[in-house]
Amino acid sequence: MDIKLFQLQSLTREEFLEHQNLGHFKAAIVPIGSTEQHLNHLSMSMDIDMSRYIAHQVAEKLYPNVLITSPVSFGIAEHHMYFPGTISAKPGSFLSIIFDLLESLLRHGIKKILLLNGHGGNVSPIEGVYEQWKLHLIATQNNSINLFDNKIINDHSEYMDAILNNTNNNIDIRFNSYWDFIPQDMVDLILETKEYPGHGGEFETSLAMYALPHIVRMDKVQSSNEIGIQKSSSDKGEKLSIQSINGVVNSINEMLITK
Ligand SMILES: [Zn+2]
Repeated sequence: MDIKLFQLQSLTREEFLEHQNLGHFKAAIVPIGSTEQHLNHLSMSMDIDMSRYIAHQVAEKLYPNVLITSPVSFGIAEHHMYFPGTISAKPGSFLSIIFDLLESLLRHGIKKILLLNGHGGNVSPIEGVYEQWKLHLIATQNNSINLFDNKIINDHSEYMDAILNNTNNNIDIRFNSYWDFIPQDMVDLILETKEYPGHGGEFETSLAMYALPHIVRMDKVQSSNEIGIQKSSSDKGEKLSIQSINGVVNSINEMLITK
């Protein structure tokens, strides 16, 4: 079989171990998104499908170094609940799943993990707890470091420094949305609306037209009165996608420099 990327849920336990013993998938990408209305021209899977698309492209480029986990397809979307079909996870439930996923991966020896998000509503909740998660996970899951290197710890900032800046720490957990890797000046050149990520506008619609054409209702794009939707194109989506993919590749490569 011609495998070009690894997806956790597609492997058996034996295959997982075999690949780990061969030094494969030292890093994991966790695609995170939402299941929520995206107007009348994009399906509800837009956000998770886009983060999965980027993750898959990156995993192919970095094969065999990257494992993609099962997607976290539900996100925090109370603000879309007026519209039929939207599913919203409450912040506590959502954050619990993400944390448990991180802890599970670390317990299986995967120390470099990128949470790759595709939904704006997930950003603030994750950023709010992320530093606390890192401290907890590095302190409890990292067997390879002497946390304090015989230093005397006098206050909490020294404690945080000892954990986060210990050069022997080999856990690297990052959180990014896929659009973090696309600079505003590039968006300004490509998009007439210059808005991103937005919601179902020129940015997302262009990306979907290029990367996920099966989720786009082109008749609704053409009949839309919204300027951003009308101005969307697959060419714009291609440029934005490539930028994001290259940015994620660089970030994973940075993570892989340390063992
Ligand atoms: Zn979206």
